[in-house]
Amino acid sequence: MVQVSRHDIVIVGGGGAGLRAAIAAAEANPKASIALVSKVYPMRSHTVSAEGGAAAVARDDDNFELHGFDTVKGSDFLGDQNVIEYFVEQAPKELALLENWGCPWSRNEDGTVSTRAFGGMTIKRTWFATDKVGFHMLHSLFQQSMRYENIVRYDEFFVTKLLTEDGACKGVAALEIRTGDYHAILGRAVILATGGAGKVFPFTTNGAIKTGDGMALAYREGVGLKDMEFVQYHPTGLPGTGILITEASRGEGGYLRNKDGDRFLVDYDYGVGKKAELGPRDMISRAIIQEFEAGRGIDDEHGLHAALDLTHLGEAHIMAKLPFVRELARTYVGVDPVHEHIPIRPVVHYMMGGVDTNIRAETDMPGLYAAGEVACGSINGANRLGSNSLTECLVFGNSAGVHSLDYASGADEGNEASLRGQAEEEAARVDSLRGSKRGDEKIADLRVEMNRVMEEGCGVYREQETMKIAEKEMHEIRKRASCLHLQDSSKVFNTELVAALELMNMVEVAETLAVSAAHRKESRGAHTCRDFPHRDDQTYLYHTLAYRTDDGPRLDRKEVALGHWEPQERKY
Ligand SMILES: Cc1cc2nc3c(=O)[nH]c(=O)nc-3n(C[C@H](O)[C@H](O)[C@H](O)COP(=O)(O)OP(=O)(O)OC[C@H]3O[C@@H](n4cnc5c(N)ncnc54)[C@H](O)[C@@H]3O)c2cc1C
Repeated sequence: MVQVSRHDIVIVGGGGAGLRAAIAAAEANPKASIALVSKVYPMRSHTVSAEGGAAAVARDDDNFELHGFDTVKGSDFLGDQNVIEYFVEQAPKELALLENWGCPWSRNEDGTVSTRAFGGMTIKRTWFATDKVGFHMLHSLFQQSMRYENIVRYDEFFVTKLLTEDGACKGVAALEIRTGDYHAILGRAVILATGGAGKVFPFTTNGAIKTGDGMALAYREGVGLKDMEFVQYHPTGLPGTGILITEASRGEGGYLRNKDGDRFLVDYDYGVGKKAELGPRDMISRAIIQEFEAGRGIDDEHGLHAALDLTHLGEAHIMAKLPFVRELARTYVGVDPVHEHIPIRPVVHYMMGGVDTNIRAETDMPGLYAAGEVACGSINGANRLGSNSLTECLVFGNSAGVHSLDYASGADEGNEASLRGQAEEEAARVDSLRGSKRGDEKIADLRVEMNRVMEEGCGVYREQETMKIAEKEMHEIRKRASCLHLQDSSKVFNTELVAALELMNMVEVAETLAVSAAHRKESRGAHTCRDFPHRDDQTYLYHTLAYRTDDGPRLDRKEVALGHWEPQERKY
């Protein structure tokens, strides 16, 4: 039996974007009822693990033009310039507001907000709270959200389907993980704020919950996934775990070294040379792989890696600005960065692509909005600049909250019986998966295979042939994911069932990624093809859109919103 509840808007996701959207809507209309649905307790969302900072113009040495151009250039000219302009203008207001809500931004001696350098940013514009920025941001947002009685939380509810009527979104169907009960959570508008999909790759900084659920939910209902081929590798992950060592460690003056002890980035003339450690993530990741290929990687008990050297910064500076980096390095690789180099290697970090949205966080489906990492607006284009993402969650979370509420005030509720019927069908489908033996496929085996295929086919460097293989293999793996063998038929906290649902979401997302990548025969931002080493604006200056069909993604394209920043060669 499905339990039905009704709200004005339903937000899926309790991370930075979801909480910001909830607060915006709750403030805009104190009478509106806002459902906040999250598969984990909100403070466990991935936003909590962000370390380095959030970008926004802070003072007179900086301006919107500079932040805008850095972002456009960082995106390798695939970002939508109208959206980027809006983003940089809203950014300072959002970060100041967050401080009013309790976020303890680090300060200079004179009391002004301190900012640090970040890759690809020409000015120090990354606001930080030591190196636990996400923790402080999410805490501030969560506490602020508790002020509003009209925000109704559904913690540990897993959304498995969007409920629609006449092509418009009218709510979600969700599994209550604790009890196994099913719910139809109805609303006249829905916001997806479900975060990224790093877990389709084997080696990632992303938490285990980042399985692309929101992307798959929208995709299954016919909404396009945009620019899925662009996957950000962060240059500095800890070998073994993939735990992130924040870019702030380079922003604060750290060096990258190879096996000969050389600061190799100064020798890379295709971009990172002059900027060295402050180059953008895509270029630095490629430089590290090139060092490995030239035999200059360090190979020891940590596997093949390069070294991050902070020793010259001194203990006082490290403890003041990077205490968490020290803690992580000591705990996870047994290295004290005050005295020793930290082993690092490139690691999957962020999805530039996602649910196709516009400047108002709207998708093509009436009543469906998306914000945060799940969305592709697009400010990030082919490569995101570090520290733009947390700010993006705030700016477009706010936007989604306000616009969805506005839409909801004029939209009808939909036919409850029909929406309940959809949720009942969904409940029956998911119920039939419990302890089911549809085939012999094991969740863990398929996940490992998907991870291997994605890494081999869509890694830092890509080739036509290997991308085509990934496309074919992902197609097979997606089909095999409908033949799972599950062993646990219990209702209460059936984590095997949740893992199966997440896998089914990941294989859809991974397939769009492989197909979109194989299609783009050029190198742009994070998408680097060895067989097509140059950017080709003549042919490929457009967004890729992937639409679901049973035979695999159908590709389409969308124009890039250009503006006064003319495409030019991307040099640093
Ligand atoms: C280790 C790390 C460090 C980072 N550091 C920085 C940084 O310093 N600066 C920066 O700008 N960016 C950083 N990023 C990127 C940035 O943190 C993320 O892009 C951003 O926090 C994503 O926020 P979000 O609100 O979109 O999603 P998340 O914080 O990932 O939250 C997703 C929410 O959706 C919910 N959800 C997902 N699926 C479902 C479902 N099926 N049903 C119900 N609920 C669901 C989850 O429960 C969760 O509440 C970092 C990322 C990582 C991984």
